[in-house]
Amino acid sequence: MASYGEIMNGLRQSFSSGITRAVTFRLSQLEALAKLVEENEAAIFESLKKDLNKPKFEAEISELSLIRSEINLARNSLNSWMKDEHVSKNLATYFDSAFIRKDPFGVVLIISPWNYPFQLCLIPLVGAIAAGNCAVIKPSEISQNTEKLLADLLPRYLDKNCFAVVCGEAKETSQLLENKFDYIFFTGNPKVGRIIMAAAAKHLTPLTLELGGKNPCFVDDDCDIDNAAKRIVWSKFFNAGQTCLAPDYVLCSEGTRDKLLTALQGTIQAFYGDDPKLSPDLGRIISQRHFQRVCGQTDETERYIAPTLLTDVKESDPVMQEEIFGPLLPFLTVGDVEEAIRFINQREKPLATYVFSRNSQVINQFLERTASGGFCANDGLMHTTLMSLPFGGVGESGMGKYHGKFSFDTFSHHRACLLRSSGREKLNEIRYPPYNQSNLGL
Ligand code: NAD
Repeated sequence: MASYGEIMNGLRQSFSSGITRAVTFRLSQLEALAKLVEENEAAIFESLKKDLNKPKFEAEISELSLIRSEINLARNSLNSWMKDEHVSKNLATYFDSAFIRKDPFGVVLIISPWNYPFQLCLIPLVGAIAAGNCAVIKPSEISQNTEKLLADLLPRYLDKNCFAVVCGEAKETSQLLENKFDYIFFTGNPKVGRIIMAAAAKHLTPLTLELGGKNPCFVDDDCDIDNAAKRIVWSKFFNAGQTCLAPDYVLCSEGTRDKLLTALQGTIQAFYGDDPKLSPDLGRIISQRHFQRVCGQTDETERYIAPTLLTDVKESDPVMQEEIFGPLLPFLTVGDVEEAIRFINQREKPLATYVFSRNSQVINQFLERTASGGFCANDGLMHTTLMSLPFGGVGESGMGKYHGKFSFDTFSHHRACLLRSSGREKLNEIRYPPYNQSNLGL
């Protein structure tokens, strides 16, 4: 295995050669990535099954199909995304050419987590390739089967001189981060995000941080309870609750809580059967450490935790102190919309806010008076399926955005270019010393 220094030198040389800038190269690598997914579907499903007992349906809709769509969009849009953007001019530059050039940053680093271990590596990589960069990819060591698969497949499909996979834990990642990258794209925990940002600061490297948080889910009294229950259960227990966008806790009035609890219990039974442990549609907790962290009605040998609704939860309870990232759904009661908004605003800005209501005024209240990375009314997770919407956090839930064209823009430096003609000097003379005050009015 080459040292990190050697890997970086190799990638730097490739980037300097200009190879990654050519549109033909970018398209060839995107095509290779599409092929990687197409030719290895069975192995990808298997690694996700081993890591998270991920049901094939969930793996398809939340990993593979998202990657395919991102690759297709990038391949079809690349020419228009790469075009110089001509901008408006002023009197002094009227005869010149002014435009924004989308330059690749250079050698970028992508660090990803274990919960959607395939797509959270490859979707940022689509953006990095489309924008013309070289990249180091650092998958999570916790999802070890997918990590191995990525380390095996990526060098077989992509140009090895331009893309490298580095495996390892915190120690290795810290060593890797001592190198100077031109951009860092990190997805993970806010605590680790701080470490990454500090490492980036040493080199003044710009970065995107895709972090987590406690996503509130307000259920209004005026709401279709049965539909809300189905959508909440689906978005909460998808991937066994290990989704950065999962509703973390429910806020509702006492009256709605009782109706909602009954509907949620009925939905859990309808979705996962009398004994959810036997359901093929429920994932497992990634590791013993995370299992110990979450714990409810459990089976440690299988790292199984039953979908669990927690009532009578208080703000001071441990479950309300950190992102849950598991199949537990606490309920807190509030008197009204005002109290719910106050509750949300007293906390760090989450990655998503969810509001279930038939009343558009209630929805607008939350939209206008709360802050979060994204917002979805009357459903969970679904806003992330649109590549036309930016995906990212704000405040404690992160900074920067990606998906679709936002990924391309994230991995590009928008260079301000003005190409002046060397003629027409008369127009310039008014700005040269000795200054003539009477020209100020021009
Ligand atoms: P994590 O932060 O522990 O790990 C993410 C990556 O960072 C891994 O590759 C890991 O090897 C590396 N890492 C861990 N500790 C490190 C250290 N001290 N120094 C350098 N590198 C280190 O996150 P996780 O447990 O893998 O994932 C869960 C977290 O990710 C949750 O908080 C979740 O909300 C968040 N997440 C966010 C998004 C998003 O798009 N916003 C998506 C998925 C997960």
